[in-house]
Amino acid sequence: NGLKKHFPVSSGILNRNAGAVKAVDDLSFEIRKGETLGIVGESGCGKSTMGRLLLRLIEPTEGEIYFNGTNVAGQKKSELRAMRKEMQMVFQDPYASLNPRMTVAKILEEPLIVHKIGTKQERAKLVEQMLTTVGLDPDYGERYPHQFSGGQRQRIGIARALMTNPQLIIADEPVSALDVSIQSQILNLLKDLQKEFSLTYLFISHDLGVVRHISDRVGVMYLGRIVELADSESLYTDPKHPYTQALLSAVPLPDPNVRKEQIVLKGDLPSPADPPKGCAFHTRCAHCFDTCKTVRPQLKEIKEGHYAACHLYE
Ligand code: SF4
Ligand code: MG
Repeated sequence: NGLKKHFPVSSGILNRNAGAVKAVDDLSFEIRKGETLGIVGESGCGKSTMGRLLLRLIEPTEGEIYFNGTNVAGQKKSELRAMRKEMQMVFQDPYASLNPRMTVAKILEEPLIVHKIGTKQERAKLVEQMLTTVGLDPDYGERYPHQFSGGQRQRIGIARALMTNPQLIIADEPVSALDVSIQSQILNLLKDLQKEFSLTYLFISHDLGVVRHISDRVGVMYLGRIVELADSESLYTDPKHPYTQALLSAVPLPDPNVRKEQIVLKGDLPSPADPPKGCAFHTRCAHCFDTCKTVRPQLKEIKEGHYAACHLYE
């Protein structure tokens, strides 16, 4: 609720405070139990920052984060452990997030030790079971991360996230580093695990096709804000926000006989250190009119369950 993350920037040698990069700027949304909420946007739109804020891997500048009714943004570091057990992260590059000097068994056991789960024998059993669950041979526990392929490493990253039996998984570009043929295997694994363990997902990606494949609802981010939020079906078949319309127009259609007009965005993505006034998208929007340059549009329900922040609908 009202979540903000502003990173201060200094102006070089004078070291004067030159303002702030508004990486996340006033986000309010909910993730429903058991759903997959996809978040899409161009690189630099604040989606990774948002994921890290929710887990409090970085601290919000402002705002509240409710998890099962508790405002975790207000909790002290010492109170966070219980919450951390329930919310885990899967990263884009599993190799960078797996300690190269630890065996896979050690990597998977570590969260159990941190959260004081099980005896040594019980933990060994849980590690073996989890390797099987994510489609790896339990004997692989004795190997090191470099001995695996990219897809296998992501299975290990997912296994590690699941060790504490969490409720919410935040996956930040979990298949972006993988070959297309491996991507669908990992997406299907995530879907199976969601059913098996009643997981809730926040799935962050720049890839609209991947997000559509896995998400129940989708939020589109632009310069630190959600500009559209809807059921996956509604968002992809009837996008309301001009930015979403442009993003989708660039995605090839499965049927080559159906032609669609690609909407080319004007100019580059503005800097989040100096976002445009009014509607942050107005510098690139083909529908921009006077109000857009001064008044910031709020996210409003346009049709049932379909929200957009755009003056065209007022
Ligand atoms: Fe375009 Fe105006 Fe809508 Fe922004 S508010 S997306 S500038 S029409
Ligand atoms: Mg990112």
